[in-house]
Amino acid sequence: MEQFLNKLLEKNRAKCQFGSVADYIPGLDKADRNHLGLCIMKTDGTVQRVGDYDVKFTIQSVSKPLTLMLAILDNGVDHVFSKVGMEPTGDAFNSIKKLETHDTHKPFNPMINAGAIATTALIKGRDAQDKFRRVLEFFRKICENDTLEIDEDIYRGEKETGNKNRAMGYFMKGEGYIDGDVEDALDVYFKQCSILVTAEDLARVALFLARGGVLSNGERVVSEYVAKIAKTLMVTCGMYDGSGEFALMVGVPSKSGVGGGICSVVPGRMGIGIYGPSLDKKGNSIGGYSLLKDLSKELSLSIF
Ligand code: GLN
Repeated sequence: MEQFLNKLLEKNRAKCQFGSVADYIPGLDKADRNHLGLCIMKTDGTVQRVGDYDVKFTIQSVSKPLTLMLAILDNGVDHVFSKVGMEPTGDAFNSIKKLETHDTHKPFNPMINAGAIATTALIKGRDAQDKFRRVLEFFRKICENDTLEIDEDIYRGEKETGNKNRAMGYFMKGEGYIDGDVEDALDVYFKQCSILVTAEDLARVALFLARGGVLSNGERVVSEYVAKIAKTLMVTCGMYDGSGEFALMVGVPSKSGVGGGICSVVPGRMGIGIYGPSLDKKGNSIGGYSLLKDLSKELSLSIF
């Protein structure tokens, strides 16, 4: 198996040269565009690690399904979806367009920036610091990794340059989709995006969802229903405006981030974590996407 995975990985590493690393957040541009790593964790306990599976990178948008689950635990499903929708946008992940043009002005879904900021604003806590402490604790639990921390430089870079996110935050506050302090919500959002992970951590997140919300020690953290919500939104919106094609080509609930991570869930079977910072035009890992296409074909992973 390991030899087979290594072969697939090295074949797809060649694709990395056709993309580029994100540079709109200071610090992300330091990543090596030829890095490609894969970790597969099966529900039977088997683990496979190949390539650059142990390189740390910021989780970025892969954080979004996690904060969605925490927001639901804190507020219940109905309240969360009164503040954020369930529909794909067909626009870029950081687009502001539909917030203004759609009659409700409601952010479309929790997997793009606008919806994720509204979701993070729902996390309970005394202040921004306490809210982020709870977010980090939740991420550590799901990743089964107590050493997770943020990359302070990327966090500061995001905070300094995240003016589009800030604009969307204030717009949503004006429309009643964010109740508390916008700067607090943004601060927690920037921090959650700056959490350092490896492909192995993302494989654990995926395995957790593949098992319907249960950790490897058998502890249930979210209900089957909440895990299903996260997986469904990952299918329809997880790869931003590339979600439709990805569903056809790969066919498993997945979430990508501009740090190069992809977390892919094969329900009941396995969790897949990928790191490949060279991105395509839509902001998805170019080598990672193509590696998942091959894996899906070779291992018959599509849920459809
Ligand atoms: N922190 C990034 C941003 O807000 C997350 C985007 C992403 O990973 N697509 O722009």
